[in-house]
Amino acid sequence: MKAPVRVAVTGAAGQIGYALLFRIAAGDMLGPDQPVILHLLEITPALPALNGVVMELNDCAFPTLAGVVATDDVNVAFRDVDYALLVGARPRGPGMERKDLLEANGAIFAPQGKALNDHAKRDVKVLVVGNPANTNALIAQQNAPDLDPRQFTAMVRLDHNRALSQLAEKTGKHTTDIRKVTIWGNHSSTQYPDLHHATVDGKPALSLVDQAWYENDFIPTVQQRGAAIIKARGASSAASAASAAIDHMRTWAQGTAEGDWVSMGIPSDGSYGIAPGVIYGYPVTVKNGKYEIVQGLEINAFSRARMDATDKELREERAGVEHLFAK
Ligand code: NDP
Repeated sequence: MKAPVRVAVTGAAGQIGYALLFRIAAGDMLGPDQPVILHLLEITPALPALNGVVMELNDCAFPTLAGVVATDDVNVAFRDVDYALLVGARPRGPGMERKDLLEANGAIFAPQGKALNDHAKRDVKVLVVGNPANTNALIAQQNAPDLDPRQFTAMVRLDHNRALSQLAEKTGKHTTDIRKVTIWGNHSSTQYPDLHHATVDGKPALSLVDQAWYENDFIPTVQQRGAAIIKARGASSAASAASAAIDHMRTWAQGTAEGDWVSMGIPSDGSYGIAPGVIYGYPVTVKNGKYEIVQGLEINAFSRARMDATDKELREERAGVEHLFAK
């Protein structure tokens, strides 16, 4: 067994937290030979529920769980952590304007960014799941001036996995037969699931499906999958979101497979004409814990329009939270 690493999870008593913690503790994220110490953050009223979750974690007697810290103090939660999964966020309430939502989340993610800056390991890897995830990641990043901006990422992996699943079902293949799917942009309904470079069993995906299915069925289904699950289940997706968060972190830690890529929400460097700085879903390869944007992909007019629309939404979200950035 290796020396334990510390993994922080916020919103740990929530429904994604409940689906996430047991899998991290079981070794699904970092491997069966990597013990973890979980640092669980909750708001004060949720501490009793969190205590119940900690009791259950202990009762699993996981070989890879080396300790649990449960707290409502962000400075304790992020002390010396190697990984941070920021799940807890303020959901949009009835009649809540977008501006109020961004403001409420600013009050969560600005102090969390500062606490990561002050207390986390210098190479901490941060994933934001709580919505609006891309802009929450930007707020945290902009309050952590001593960390590399590239350490802050947002989750578009659930959308990526949803795209794999839809395409596999349509072509009668397994998700493992598919390569090079991309989710560009925001984790919102403006995201652009792109199949132009994807292959199924080595064949171009778009040669196996018709354009009408791609435009009118596949893209909206992936974009609106979250709402469809709420309608069917009466509750938002949680296990699949947790699973995607584990995939995101495992890929970041362990790398991408040869000949494939994944989608990650990362700070734009201007690649593909996207506004520098916004946290934008890109195709990336990962090696030795470092991600690189896949370069040189041909972008046609259809893709360009959709990539620009989701970039525009992210620039507008950024304009609404700039006052929350540390000077
Ligand atoms: P969930 O665990 O279901 O969701 C948490 C966040 O993940 C929400 O912002 C949600 O966004 C987002 N999310 C991202 N992708 C998905 C997806 N595919 N499906 C569903 N959600 C997704 O929420 P709960 O209300 O059950 O739990 C939240 C917990 O966070 C509570 O226990 C609360 O006390 C805690 N919290 C902790 C904070 C902290 O630690 N400082 C701060 C705020 C809350 P969306 O709302 O759009 O569904």
